[in-house]
Amino acid sequence: MNYVTTIGLEVHVQLKTRSKMFCSSPVEFGAEPNTHTCPVCLGLPGALPVMNHEALRMTVLTGLMLGCDIAPLCKFDRKNYFYPDMPKNYQISQYDMPLCTNGVVPLHDLAYPKDAQKNIVTPDKEVHLVRIHLEEDVAKSFHFENSTGIDFNRAGTPLMEIVTQPEINSPEEAFAFLASLKQILIYGAVSDADMEKGQLRCDCNISVRPESQTELGAKIEIKNLNSISGVRRALAYEVRRQSLRWRMAKHFSKRHVVGMTQPAKRFSCAQKNSRMIIATSRIPILCR
Ligand SMILES: [Zn+2]
Repeated sequence: MNYVTTIGLEVHVQLKTRSKMFCSSPVEFGAEPNTHTCPVCLGLPGALPVMNHEALRMTVLTGLMLGCDIAPLCKFDRKNYFYPDMPKNYQISQYDMPLCTNGVVPLHDLAYPKDAQKNIVTPDKEVHLVRIHLEEDVAKSFHFENSTGIDFNRAGTPLMEIVTQPEINSPEEAFAFLASLKQILIYGAVSDADMEKGQLRCDCNISVRPESQTELGAKIEIKNLNSISGVRRALAYEVRRQSLRWRMAKHFSKRHVVGMTQPAKRFSCAQKNSRMIIATSRIPILCR
């Protein structure tokens, strides 16, 4: 049986501005921890954000470089959630009115990994974008043996989120997408896109389904990857893992499949003390 892989990427890109997204604290990698902060990026009561014009310009420039539609009107929203590295307990982001929509990233032959350049399945492919929006980065946690330290220097750094359509079909195409995008961002001088410094980070959504099935398989998200070859390796692992589970599932009788759960939910047996196949992530597993 052949399987189809569907991948969508969310790429976070730190912009190369001198100051943060909503305050005048400097953006500088490697500075002494917690020295580039102020009441705004620490979320102290009464502090009010003032937008960084240069970050707005760079995001629009990125949108133009990638052929996006630029919104005549956009807004920012508060995304409320608690996380130790986010001092305000909300992130200022864009929800329903992003700065840029649509657009494409062309996958050039030389952007593919060297060992895959002679075997490109879809030459001259273009990956379409859903949107590019502007938000602020969170602080950075450092985990020590018995404690965790938080450096708020990064909190409030301007961050673009670039979201693709789910139309990448292999780990090699994901590699080529990120290599092409990185080059465009560097040439456009909107980001240094240095993945070792966390200036470009990637979340991957991947699902695998049998070729005969039209409905997408269950989506698995791999978050916060910080190297292009790491993205390729993680996706290749997930393709193998999901394909294997589909193959294993074929050995079980279809009548034993009693339910579907969403990926993040816990498995549960529908009937206790009976051998039952429960589907999770739409892939049946054996449950005793
Ligand atoms: Zn600040």
